[in-house]
Amino acid sequence: MDEFALINEFFKRHADGAGIVAGIGDDGAVVETEAGRQVHVLDTLVQGVHFPDDTAAADIGWRSVAVNLSDIAAMGATPQWMTLGLALPDVGEDWVRDFAEGLFEIADQFGVQLIGGDTTRGPVVVVTVAMTGRVPGEPLLRSGAKLGDTVYVTGTLGDAAAGLTLIRDGKSDHPLATRFNRPTPRIDSGRAIGEMASACIDVSDGLVGDLKKLCVASGVGAEVDVERLPLSEHILTEYPDEAAAFALTGGDDYELCFTANADVKVIAGLDGITAIGTITAGEGVTCRQDGTIVDVDDSGYRHFR
Ligand code: ADP
Ligand code: MG
Repeated sequence: MDEFALINEFFKRHADGAGIVAGIGDDGAVVETEAGRQVHVLDTLVQGVHFPDDTAAADIGWRSVAVNLSDIAAMGATPQWMTLGLALPDVGEDWVRDFAEGLFEIADQFGVQLIGGDTTRGPVVVVTVAMTGRVPGEPLLRSGAKLGDTVYVTGTLGDAAAGLTLIRDGKSDHPLATRFNRPTPRIDSGRAIGEMASACIDVSDGLVGDLKKLCVASGVGAEVDVERLPLSEHILTEYPDEAAAFALTGGDDYELCFTANADVKVIAGLDGITAIGTITAGEGVTCRQDGTIVDVDDSGYRHFR
């Protein structure tokens, strides 16, 4: 069983009790409180699984907050508080100082405060951050995409996966490596599109795999024009032949993929957003390059097989 089957089999109960606006199955859970709607997200990073063994402590600190902020962004929410679970082997004081520096650098930038946590010994570094945020009005769910909507993404795609390849080749100071180590969560974009987007997901496992999850949740299909994918100068220089493949299936970009009615004009005013395709009837994600359907492994990253 992959992790999605495990979650469905053992953890996904009908979470439809009072106060639950969105339960298991979206980027974050949304609950109704007396103070308004709150979003809850949680992400774990494991040494050797989510980051290479020799990743700088400050980058691990940054990334552990960034990946949670990205899920908050995908819900159209504003981050507020977080708690931190740490399992640490004997890493030394300097490591912890650097980790905290990276963690607070991004936390301060996005105005999220650390209010608690848990620290234990463990065989490898395991970092869990749980974050809560405020949802203004309606949350942005994976499930609202409609036939004929346009599919958009923020930023550029494939950089982090290309960066990870460079890191493995010992080129950790390349700008693409920084895209892997220090992803930029799209909180501002998430809030800006909140009103007009019909559905949204953050791209953590790869565009096609994540767009497929959005499609499943919405009961629709999608077509992506490969030639419209936003690619950075860096990836085109470093990987001219593989850039599109990285953009379609590479994970860890933490950009937003969202859908909106094509004649929503305001989106054009948002910086760094690219229309890459259309929502269709049926199911699955079809990718076309110059009119020809290209075969893409849409499984995304799986922790269990
Ligand atoms: P993301 O990639 O946005 O972090 P996933 O696609 O990995 O989200 O997770 C799918 C859904 O399953 C999410 O709603 C998540 O909150 C939920 N989930 C994951 N693990 C568990 C678990 N052990 N128990 C309950 N829900 C879980
Ligand atoms: Mg997500």
